[in-house]
Amino acid sequence: ARAAILKSVTGPGGTKDGHLVPLLANIGGPQDLEAAVANGAEGVGLYRTEFLFLDRAAPPSAAEQEEAYRKVLEAFPKGKVVVRTLDAGADKPLAFLPPPGEEPNPALGERGLRMMRSHPDVLAEQLGALARAAAGTTARLEVMAPMVTDAEEAAFFAQACRDAGIDHPGVMIEVPAAALRARDLAAEVEFFSIGTNDLTQYACAADRQIGGLAHLQDPWQPAVLDLVAVAAGAAADSGRPCGVCGEAGGDPALACVLVGLGVTSLSMGAPSLPLVRAALARHTLDQCREAADAARRARTAQLARESARALLPGLA
Ligand code: PEP
Ligand code: MG
Repeated sequence: ARAAILKSVTGPGGTKDGHLVPLLANIGGPQDLEAAVANGAEGVGLYRTEFLFLDRAAPPSAAEQEEAYRKVLEAFPKGKVVVRTLDAGADKPLAFLPPPGEEPNPALGERGLRMMRSHPDVLAEQLGALARAAAGTTARLEVMAPMVTDAEEAAFFAQACRDAGIDHPGVMIEVPAAALRARDLAAEVEFFSIGTNDLTQYACAADRQIGGLAHLQDPWQPAVLDLVAVAAGAAADSGRPCGVCGEAGGDPALACVLVGLGVTSLSMGAPSLPLVRAALARHTLDQCREAADAARRARTAQLARESARALLPGLA
């Protein structure tokens, strides 16, 4: 029994019928690597680098960044590590990068890639540190930008990566405009990673920092599932992988639905990995697709959750 549990923790993620779905960890820095490895992560799907920049008056030096990035890359010598460039602003304010002026709606303001375009020196320094960290390691480094809206921004980011010597640029899909026009973005970058936390916030116009709106911050909202389906479909048509790195990927039933919608990898907090791995292993890709179709046919988030769960009998 112990061997079976161990196998279930360490084998590659996938459905019952062998459709592989890499299961990756969301981390905030090297301090989270131990839990990621212990829970069988196949790599890192989201490295939120802003933790390195929090609570300080000046950005960390290039050398300090390089050291942190190298530790993460070395933890997965045969895996991939997806690093997100600094996502400053809105719910992640940084002392040394204040917004340019009064922002009545910070979530709609200068944040993510928008902020980096105003501070190209900060972006170039981070990309340079990443390229140097990857040079001596065997992990596959992929680098993605947060809060990308259109193809022009995706092209800007891909060029910034190339200028720094980074080969695999991608973008997060967390703005509805980016999901709807994913086909245009796919022409500019190598991969997508859907941030369901922000995609839900923007699709439902419900600030993720306002607790009273939690019922609208629900990734089971059929409109959010529709946006995921559009982005994953465009990615597939363009031969690009499309992962999910928002909290939605850590919900075992929703993980199955996301795979049914065409998502190709899932990244989540390390503690969620074993349950998601087990849920996928107990259902076929067809069952995931049927659950996804049922969820999209539902009229509310609650009905979407119920109708999908009814078609996923192997859930714990
Ligand atoms: C997301 O928005 O879903 C995401 C993964 O990024 P964050 O939660 O860090 O904004
Ligand atoms: Mg986000």
